[in-house]
Amino acid sequence: MEEYRDYMIRAVAADAQIRAFAITARDLTETARKAHNTSPIATAALGRAMSGALMMAEMLKGPRDLLTIQIDGDGPLQGLVVTADNQGHVKGYVKNPNVILPPNKQGHLNVGGAIGRGTLTVIRDMNLKDPYIGQIPLVTGEIAEDLTAYYAQSEQIPSSVGLGVLMNKENTVKRAGGFVVQLMPFADDEVIGKLEENIRRISSVTGILEEDSRPEHLLDIVLDGFDIQITSREDVCFYCNCSRERFERGLVLLGKEELEDIIADGKDIELACQFCSSTYRYTTDEVKKLLPRAAAAGR
Ligand code: ZN
Repeated sequence: MEEYRDYMIRAVAADAQIRAFAITARDLTETARKAHNTSPIATAALGRAMSGALMMAEMLKGPRDLLTIQIDGDGPLQGLVVTADNQGHVKGYVKNPNVILPPNKQGHLNVGGAIGRGTLTVIRDMNLKDPYIGQIPLVTGEIAEDLTAYYAQSEQIPSSVGLGVLMNKENTVKRAGGFVVQLMPFADDEVIGKLEENIRRISSVTGILEEDSRPEHLLDIVLDGFDIQITSREDVCFYCNCSRERFERGLVLLGKEELEDIIADGKDIELACQFCSSTYRYTTDEVKKLLPRAAAAGR
């Protein structure tokens, strides 16, 4: 059994006029870094997106519901895909894990520069026929600002998202995490004003994480002066549900002719999972055994 140290909390404040989520995600970001061998900028982009996706997935209702954040950009990172469920599992990858850029003007990892201009797509798959898909143009490519804009434009929920990843000198992950705060429609002006003031005072999420990486500490700062009621706490981790059987089903879907070509080549094939970099090897004998299934599927 894996040891969980990352966790996420959910809270309400100001008589439930505010709802809030906060997460510490160091271990899962480090797990993703190792799986994909990502550069510091790519690690930061992935850690921010995974933290955001876990908090957004926490808002879904069903145990099998999934939330995917897809970013497509014209920068050297090209984009990323992360998927979270509401059981605290997340997986993800960046398209180009090797990007290295100089720091930005603030001296931080230049995630916005690595992603560039493009789109943010949020897919909520609630096991209905069609998933709910919302898409907006990227605002800064820094991910937190883009998710804030997504909530305002696509879901009309006034929100503030803060995300940060801090690296050690040897390029391992030191801290990762963030918060999402949202105003309920009945929030009064005084609450709105005070929350806006609190958020204006936050200059760096990584700075707060460096002081104390517990999500409770993040909410103490974001919701300073409000009564905070923590309503749940959940362990979170990097987890991919890929398996040999899933990849086999994928091979079957290639169809009989394609499989016959693979067999004719006479070489083992190796398939890699994009989300976790696990690899699965199949001998031609194993591929041969899939032929009847491919034929039965009429492909
Ligand atoms: Zn996988």
